[in-house]
Amino acid sequence: MYINEEKKPYPFCPGCSHVQVIEAINRALQKVEADPRRTVMVSDIGCVGLVDSFFNIHTFHGLHGRSFTYAAGIKLANPDLNVFVMVGDGGCGIGGHHLINAARRNIGIKVIAFNNFNFGMTGGQHSVTSFFGSKTRTTPGGHLERGFDLAKLVEAAGSPFVARKLAFDKDLDETIALAMRSEGFAFLDVWEVCTAYYMPMNDFKKPAMEAEIEKLGMKLGVLREECLPEYSCTLRAGRKGSEGETAVTRPIVIAKKFEHRLPQEPFRLILAGSAGMKIVSSAGYLGNAALKCGLHVSQKDDFPITVQSGHSVSEMILSSEEVEYLGVDKPDAVIILSEEGLAKVRKVLPVMEKNSLVIAREGLSLETPAKVIAIDPKRFSNKSLITAALQSLIRLVPLVPQEAFFEVIGEIRNEAIRNENLKAMEIARSWL
Ligand code: SF4
Repeated sequence: MYINEEKKPYPFCPGCSHVQVIEAINRALQKVEADPRRTVMVSDIGCVGLVDSFFNIHTFHGLHGRSFTYAAGIKLANPDLNVFVMVGDGGCGIGGHHLINAARRNIGIKVIAFNNFNFGMTGGQHSVTSFFGSKTRTTPGGHLERGFDLAKLVEAAGSPFVARKLAFDKDLDETIALAMRSEGFAFLDVWEVCTAYYMPMNDFKKPAMEAEIEKLGMKLGVLREECLPEYSCTLRAGRKGSEGETAVTRPIVIAKKFEHRLPQEPFRLILAGSAGMKIVSSAGYLGNAALKCGLHVSQKDDFPITVQSGHSVSEMILSSEEVEYLGVDKPDAVIILSEEGLAKVRKVLPVMEKNSLVIAREGLSLETPAKVIAIDPKRFSNKSLITAALQSLIRLVPLVPQEAFFEVIGEIRNEAIRNENLKAMEIARSWL
């Protein structure tokens, strides 16, 4: 039912274990009565990724080792979907970081690892699971590393469901169905034979596989089965404010307390200065004041990775509608407090409208049709000049009421910074 029989035969080498595992997945999907319209298979790169089009369900095929991230994203966006991953041992190595973090977060994706101990598609190179001493195209004299025990690795990362099976196991479909029925992250390490490369170089048939299991003290079957809260559902429940809400997932709500006074919507603003001038923090203060007026606010910051030197720019949009595009190509107002800031915003100044506004530190050379107000830096500290400029802006342009901005400044936790800003606001109040 879930495999399109008309597409067969599969494109694998004769005897490749992938056939048995894919047929077991097909039977498992029937056992759990998976709704094809709500089931997504994410396949990784490798021979196993060749059969997406054989399945009558949603499929996604992306970059090598990233199948875990695509699957996690799909599950986070829609926790109601059944999402499973088909990945080889090569993909588990390349995307190992993604694998252990998906397990740690307990995102409810089901990972079936087609573990044949080498990269089959690219010619039989060793992988992270190749055994010590095993021969591959890249380890012809015997592998010097010990292979990862994928099941143990994922179990240690916190996965609540972990199992190991052989591709030959008749009840493989039962274990896959168990994994699919489990709530959270599930990992199934399926040992396989690659008849083209690994098996001939190592005489690795079923008896050798079982002997290796015993030699390494490993176990087959379900190794861990626990019930832990699944991440995407917990997140969704918390966001909705329904049962299951936690302090971690509860959204921060800023209640509307003031009426905004936007002359036009949306209002686009750029603040530009240098490191240490509190440009980004102060954009946040204005943003908070706008949120207290029930507005939507976006803030896009730009500063070099050397955060204590260079420019600092914040682009803001204040709007009564949700903001979907965060760029500010043609601002309604610009505040410029340093040469470094000016260098970053110089190109937008000529395109501003005549009725728009520039508030700039005295002495800066500007070319703009906008109205320019100069601000005397000697009257303010380096850190509070931006507060004075913002105070001036909201006095000249009725964006948010003065009380809203004053309230936000009064909420600054650091007393010294709070007082410095309140003093700057006081000076600016009497200045224009
Ligand atoms: S190369 Fe190996 S894994 Fe790929 S199809 Fe052939 S036998 Fe299977």
